[in-house]
Amino acid sequence: MSVIALAGNPNTGKTSVFNRLTGSSSRVGNYPGVTVERESGRWKLPTGEIEVLDVPGAYSLAARSEEEQIAVRALFERGDKRPALVVVVVDATQLVRNLYFVAQLLEADVPVVVALNLIDAARALGAAPDTARVEKALGVPVVEVSARTGEGFEALGARVQEVLADPAKGRASPAFHYPAALEADAARLSPKLVASSPREARAMALWALLSVGEGDELTGVTREVRSEVKEIRAGAAAAGRDLDSEIIGSRWAWLDGLALAPARVAEPRSATERIDRWVLHPVLGTALFLAVMGILFQALFSWSEPLITGTEKVFDWLGAVARLLLPAGVAADLVADGVIGGVGSVLVFLPQILLLFFLLGFLEDSGYMSRVAFLVDRGMRAIGLHGRAFVPMLSGYACAVPAIMATRTLERRRDRLVTMLAVPFMTCSARLPVYTLVIAAMLPPRRYLLGFVPVQVAAMVAMYLFSAFCALASAAILGRTVLKGPRVPLLLELPPYRLPRLAVVTRQMWLRAKSFLSEAGRVILACTIVLWALLYFPRGAAVSAELAVAREKATVEQLAALEMQASAERLRASYGAKLGRLIEPVIAPLGFDWKIGVGLVGAFAAREVFISTLGVVYGLGKDAEESGGLLRDRIRAERRLDGAPAYPPLVGLSLMVFFALSAQCMSTLAVVRRESRSWKWPAFLFSYMTVLAWLASFAVYQGGRALGFG
Ligand code: GDP
Ligand code: MG
Repeated sequence: MSVIALAGNPNTGKTSVFNRLTGSSSRVGNYPGVTVERESGRWKLPTGEIEVLDVPGAYSLAARSEEEQIAVRALFERGDKRPALVVVVVDATQLVRNLYFVAQLLEADVPVVVALNLIDAARALGAAPDTARVEKALGVPVVEVSARTGEGFEALGARVQEVLADPAKGRASPAFHYPAALEADAARLSPKLVASSPREARAMALWALLSVGEGDELTGVTREVRSEVKEIRAGAAAAGRDLDSEIIGSRWAWLDGLALAPARVAEPRSATERIDRWVLHPVLGTALFLAVMGILFQALFSWSEPLITGTEKVFDWLGAVARLLLPAGVAADLVADGVIGGVGSVLVFLPQILLLFFLLGFLEDSGYMSRVAFLVDRGMRAIGLHGRAFVPMLSGYACAVPAIMATRTLERRRDRLVTMLAVPFMTCSARLPVYTLVIAAMLPPRRYLLGFVPVQVAAMVAMYLFSAFCALASAAILGRTVLKGPRVPLLLELPPYRLPRLAVVTRQMWLRAKSFLSEAGRVILACTIVLWALLYFPRGAAVSAELAVAREKATVEQLAALEMQASAERLRASYGAKLGRLIEPVIAPLGFDWKIGVGLVGAFAAREVFISTLGVVYGLGKDAEESGGLLRDRIRAERRLDGAPAYPPLVGLSLMVFFALSAQCMSTLAVVRRESRSWKWPAFLFSYMTVLAWLASFAVYQGGRALGFG
């Protein structure tokens, strides 16, 4: 079966065309980075089925961003997976600018069919291109289509079949006039590149000259090529030549020479421009931005409350059902506490995450998100972050896993890494229940700051501010030290505003949530089972003789209490408790005892596991989460040997600081490993955050004691 690919600049309607061709319903969006992984589907043509790939948007084949690299890798795949031709989806309202990408494909000897999409929009603007002239100038088939109305798809099929039968019909060689010195450089580099034709090799040499050597580790570029590029660039610089403008300038000279830009009758995008005058205004725009973020947070933290409670109830119920169905014993405990409890602890956050994704999707599809990136770019840049890092950072308030995946829209590897390493500091929804418990159990309830701000509320707000501060500080410091690199300007398409479509937004939300679930779910499930086993075994001689005797004579009410006591005793003898005592010397200077230690071991799988682990530690059994109040009271009542409270407010503070800074999340580390394609960065992240957390908690606890608190 033949394979063809859909490619083109971001936001030209590739995915919409793909959905038309294959009858699928992939996510479309009005924001770059919506299609970050290539997708494939079948297109039924009269001559048979062919496979169609939808690849991420790219401006250039000299791929700098992750998305562009995915696109280029898909288009230039080796062997029989290589697309037989590329349908370049071109935005007819932005014709000339889009043709730059077409020209590069032609230069690389790739068979091309141009789909002039959004032709409906171009006509509405009174600026439809002269398609026959475009076809003649380029020398390859050009077809007018509209993914919105469905117009032109039969013609597109016919032209694709034509080129599949005779690829020469899709090939052309644009007459770029590169300076002779540049031709010589390309000729020197191209034999070192693996390509399927000399013209492809020459084109690749030009991409390498454009993109290698900016501190980016491009994939697929050998060390030899890299050092060769450096030499060539150094030689050119010494000769006073600017390679970038030689290459890019020659191409544009050719394109401009074709004079294909349609005469404009109406001013395009005028509505968008009028809106942007307000939205991008330094004062009004910022005010609007703050208002939008305010609503977003309000939604995230108060509107999702009933959903969260509902999810909790469902899982409690499932656990109870499992206990009813399974005979009491290890299997029932494993299913109810380990599996259902473990999965439940992840899914409790799903409503919040879905809501965040829905709202983000809504803002993206409307076109507003690109403006946000533009608005915050200056501030972010001062810190060493890229304007586009805003969406990932914001998503970090829900969960670091999808947030780290969202860094794919950042062009340079360095920017991605800086953002990836900052995101885990954001107060994710897993930290929230931990803070809630610690604040309720360890901070004084009826105390007020300045006479009216409850201490407990102030503490929660402080934790949120602290996390944002740490994330930004971490980016600023890492960006200037470990990940030093040149600053690049924000190149951002400001797409026209569109009314967000519910179907698109919901679908996008679901796809993102799905990747969160499969990414986080698996790790958490595995870890909870391991932890459950650690705290459950050994089962043997855990119950003391006294307790056994007491149980013999107990009444029904006493029996329940004794059961709890027995499970607490078993827990104290468990491998997990041994582990807690083992790490006690390390955490004692932070004010933590072995019980908190067990909780911290549990929290490594996922922060929220801290609560259920503590629940078990305090002998409350499986209902700890549900009876959060009870757990809180137990913690509050805990005394040291000398009768002083075991967990004074200072310990609570130290504990929250520890949670704010430490990398207690397997899923985050797993996704950093996947996205950075190395073990180095997750290892770095883990050690860096853990050391930081320890030091900060140490400072809080010891400093607080020195000042006479706790
Ligand atoms: P991609 O980034 O290239 O995959 O583009 P998408 O398929 O996600 O579409 C970007 C935006 O353009 C979406 O809002 C689409 O609804 C819109 N769009 C796509 N094709 C057309 C078209 O032919 N006409 C009009 N008017 N809008 C379109
Ligand atoms: Mg797309």
